[in-house]
Amino acid sequence: MQDERTELLRTPVTFLKGVGPQRAELLNRIGLWRAYDLLFYFPRDYLDMSEKKDVMQLEENKLQTVCGVIDSWERKQTRRGDMIALNVDCGKRFVKALWFKMPFIIREFAQGRRVLITGKPKFDHPFWVVMHPQITYLSDSEDEAEVEPFLPVYPLTEGLRQHHMRKIVREMLPVYAPLLDEVFPADYLAKHKLLPVAEAVKEIHFPSDNASMLWAKRRFVYQELFILQLGLAVRRYQHRIQLKAVPLPVDKKIDARIRQRFPFDLTKSQEKVIKEITADLSQPIPMNRLLQGDVGSGKTVVAVYAMLTAVANGHQAVFMSPTEVLARQHLRTLTRMLEGSQVKIAPLFGGQRPAERSMVLQEIAVGKAQIIVGTQAIIYGEIPFQKLGLVIIDEQHKFGVLQRAVLKTGEKFDPHYLVMTATPIPRSITMTLFGDLDVSIMDGMPPGRQKVKTYIVEPDKKNDWWNYVARKVREERWQGYVVVPLIEDNDDTPEGELSNSLLSVFNQLSQNELSGLRLGMIHGRMSTEEKEKIMFDFRTGDIQILVATTVIEVGVDVPNANLMTIIGGERFGLSQLHQLRGRIGRGSNPGYCGIFASAETKDAEQRLKAFAATTDGFKLAEKDFEIRGAGDLFGTQQHGMPPLRVADLKQDREVLEEARQDAVEMIHNDPGLAEPQHAKLRKQMLNRYGTVLNLGDVG
Ligand code: ADP
Ligand code: MG
Repeated sequence: MQDERTELLRTPVTFLKGVGPQRAELLNRIGLWRAYDLLFYFPRDYLDMSEKKDVMQLEENKLQTVCGVIDSWERKQTRRGDMIALNVDCGKRFVKALWFKMPFIIREFAQGRRVLITGKPKFDHPFWVVMHPQITYLSDSEDEAEVEPFLPVYPLTEGLRQHHMRKIVREMLPVYAPLLDEVFPADYLAKHKLLPVAEAVKEIHFPSDNASMLWAKRRFVYQELFILQLGLAVRRYQHRIQLKAVPLPVDKKIDARIRQRFPFDLTKSQEKVIKEITADLSQPIPMNRLLQGDVGSGKTVVAVYAMLTAVANGHQAVFMSPTEVLARQHLRTLTRMLEGSQVKIAPLFGGQRPAERSMVLQEIAVGKAQIIVGTQAIIYGEIPFQKLGLVIIDEQHKFGVLQRAVLKTGEKFDPHYLVMTATPIPRSITMTLFGDLDVSIMDGMPPGRQKVKTYIVEPDKKNDWWNYVARKVREERWQGYVVVPLIEDNDDTPEGELSNSLLSVFNQLSQNELSGLRLGMIHGRMSTEEKEKIMFDFRTGDIQILVATTVIEVGVDVPNANLMTIIGGERFGLSQLHQLRGRIGRGSNPGYCGIFASAETKDAEQRLKAFAATTDGFKLAEKDFEIRGAGDLFGTQQHGMPPLRVADLKQDREVLEEARQDAVEMIHNDPGLAEPQHAKLRKQMLNRYGTVLNLGDVG
């Protein structure tokens, strides 16, 4: 039965009423091949014709629609530009429609043609005038009273007109919509207030009123997000049943021994997340957890706690960072914290000599090396772990479920995973792109954390800013960063303009604004030794001002650096700016951040304002999301997830929460979606996410 219906839904568009070969080609051009495609080709907007009036009932300045016959039109050059005036005979009065600078509007005018005019009219004796109205053409047989209250506005292509498309859809809807197969069980629809699919499709194309349009839309948004959340929930479930880990429990003795290593008491939020993490580690199922904490909230200590737990249980732990600068810093921190202990730390870096590297690998292979520190790039190679118990990925910037390649332990057990973010992520993103992870949130800061004041430095105040920086360095022995967006000048730097490149800024500052101070320079293309040397000189204070690219972006911790100048601020994203600023205010003095920017776009301006207004990373993440939306997060190669077609993570946050909860509940009750009433959901979920989420055969 459904097979037959499915077959009918596959009817090529050429066979639909009102579609000839020519129009079929236009439809094909926008991806519409079959009846089914058309049903799911949703309007991008609607034309509100819900207030149809007789011309004698029109009111001023309210959106209304009135019917009439085209009488005449003229085109005039006016002070406001090219003007088109269309006179429409609406019976007892004329309505004059006016357009400026839209000459193409004339294209479909024809004397005697019946039209609907939708807009906000003004009475200008003896006629009504409507500026820039919408015109809807009626065929001779169409009764204006029967025109739907909301007309769909479709994304179209050259040659295909709205009224063609409306006509085609209007004709095919009642024939094909009822053939659609409902994926949700009937009681599920009722319980979750979802419109049945046939009705929802009808209402989304030609809504009977505003409310039904919203309900129809909600059904599809819900469905899309629900299917995604089902996929993620199944992935979590499979992870739990298929993967085995060695439990790494913590007892009082281990706990006390670990804490002894920290030079300070843990903060409340550190305690909270350590509890969550140790609870996971003590299970025979691999931990798969995302730790979100603001910049400077003290995630490293949490990582060290987890690693020492692994070591105490006789297992190895790896600690991976995105950059070598950061990995080396971690190596120093760990070495300092573990001084005098038995724990053996092994570094794995890009620049190591072959002999050194093979010795380290040997130590890893025999289990002598217990904590392995390095960059992700290096560790994702073939490392022969002896007994890998825990993997920590620090300062993860890249989004995505699929980013987490699996490191094999060389045994039948999988390691526990902890991913730590570089900056907070908006909740809706966490729920989708990281939706298969458990999440820990660290929202407090270590005591004594200093405030950072941020200034947007106006062009005529730059000298004042540099004077201030120079004075602080001389008088208070502070240090600072100057961050630039580029290593080298590129061709699009306008001639005569001060460039934002590393070298020019460095030269300029050393010769002028900051002459007499000890400046250093660091960027990603330097060799490891060079970078190490520079960071060493900066830490010891030999370098007072470090001119840097974003290599210092994540994690770098030099407490005496309180000053930061960001040049070309408009070129950085909000979370990147937040990361950068997180480098200062780490010591006993407050931080001062000055940002130079030419805010040409509205986005850049909003970003800079938000940046100056708050230092709360969680707030900034939401703000960034508000400004940019999720557009470039979903549907990019970064994580390989198919794009969302109907839902918008920004607008549909509430539906997302609901869909997630419902999906978790469904998988809890029917983990393999094996119950017959879930068969269609299961099929849809596998079709869409089976491959990307690597779901294999559910069951
Ligand atoms: P992030 O979360 O950005 O990785 P870090 O782990 O680098 O932050 O910690 C930032 C700074 O705070 C470090 O200098 C660290 O030593 C310090 N710190 C961490 N936890 C505490 C604590 N409980 N009390 C005092 N200082 C702490
Ligand atoms: Mg860190």
